[in-house]
Amino acid sequence: MNIAETPAKFLATDLLARFVAIVGNKNAVTDREAQAPFLTEPRDMFRGTSAVVLRPGSVGEVAEILKLANETATAIVPQGGNTGLVGGQIPQHGEIVLSLNRLDRVREVDAVSNTMTCEAGVTLLRAREAAAEVDRLYPQLLPSEGSCTIGGNLSTNAGGTAALAYGIARSHALGIEVVLPDGRVLNALNKLKKDNTGYDLKDLFIGAEGTLGVITAAVLRLIPRPRSVETAFVGVPSPQAALDLFGLASERATGNVTSFELMLRLGIELVLRHGAGCRDPLPQPHPWYVLIELSSQARSGLRAVSSKTPLSRRASIRPRRSGASAKCSAKCNATKAARSSTTSRCR
Ligand SMILES: Cc1cc2nc3c(=O)[nH]c(=O)nc-3n(C[C@H](O)[C@H](O)[C@H](O)COP(=O)(O)OP(=O)(O)OC[C@H]3O[C@@H](n4cnc5c(N)ncnc54)[C@H](O)[C@@H]3O)c2cc1C
Repeated sequence: MNIAETPAKFLATDLLARFVAIVGNKNAVTDREAQAPFLTEPRDMFRGTSAVVLRPGSVGEVAEILKLANETATAIVPQGGNTGLVGGQIPQHGEIVLSLNRLDRVREVDAVSNTMTCEAGVTLLRAREAAAEVDRLYPQLLPSEGSCTIGGNLSTNAGGTAALAYGIARSHALGIEVVLPDGRVLNALNKLKKDNTGYDLKDLFIGAEGTLGVITAAVLRLIPRPRSVETAFVGVPSPQAALDLFGLASERATGNVTSFELMLRLGIELVLRHGAGCRDPLPQPHPWYVLIELSSQARSGLRAVSSKTPLSRRASIRPRRSGASAKCSAKCNATKAARSSTTSRCR
């Protein structure tokens, strides 16, 4: 546990008042109890202290805060959804917290250019919903999607479960808007895929965790929504067997492997022991498991692929809604010992 020992940095009353005046009393949190959600990471592994949590409602206010902080050498920690697992968003040395979660507008969704412009505090879930409303997919997916934000995703260059197919956060950003430490706003909200002009400054800020500036908005790349998705949970004897299965799936599904996650039996046992209403997913235990997802534009394409690409000798296939079952045959030595349970859905 990394509990902060450092008390909140002393801020002279008049300086504190100047920061508060930028966002207004309502959006400056000084009360200890109200500050708690901003000062503790959800697993309680990191705790901090802060004189004030500032919640700006516009890019202009972010710029004013950073300008004043720069002039007075006041330390700032930007925060999005506070889901970071390494505590970078926690004021462990008593800094001011700059929460971006009021910058939560989806400024534009453009199905023609296949882009979406979101402010930093838009949650990943909301961004994905906005894309789905115009029948597009924003392909980043993290289990923390309900709380984590676009600004946090880009600042940590987040990976997620579909990184295999679509890349990590850096691959999704076409443009970015950043407030620099001295308060200047860098507007690089480019929507063009074919932008070959000069330096690509956005990549400096992605993955920088706020050390070079505060991300306030980004243009994100969208893709067509897959029409069908197949998910399988497969038991394998070893990591090598999982790699062989990955090779087989990539070859047969021709680039349609969206996710491929390796798990130890120990993880399953922990969930079975502590999770309410959970059951062992497969009839027999296996030392390792793979969660695999295939997706395709063809409505019927994946069922054919999964039947021709047996994940196991006898895979029980359970479409999510009908509950019907079928059997696959096996050809591949690599996956001989694998057992799987699969579900499919069409969109
Ligand atoms: C259940 C769960 C599953 C997760 N799965 C994954 C996963 O699959 N892959 C993965 O990569 N991570 C994962 N994470 C970690 C976390 O969700 C990601 O790192 C996420 O991108 C953080 O976003 P956030 O908005 O919560 O950022 P925060 O936690 O608030 O901040 C993270 C860092 O970014 C900085 N920051 C935040 N917003 C800005 C901004 N606007 N401008 C500049 N700097 C900023 C903060 O100072 C901090 O250093 C998971 C977390 C949980 C709880």
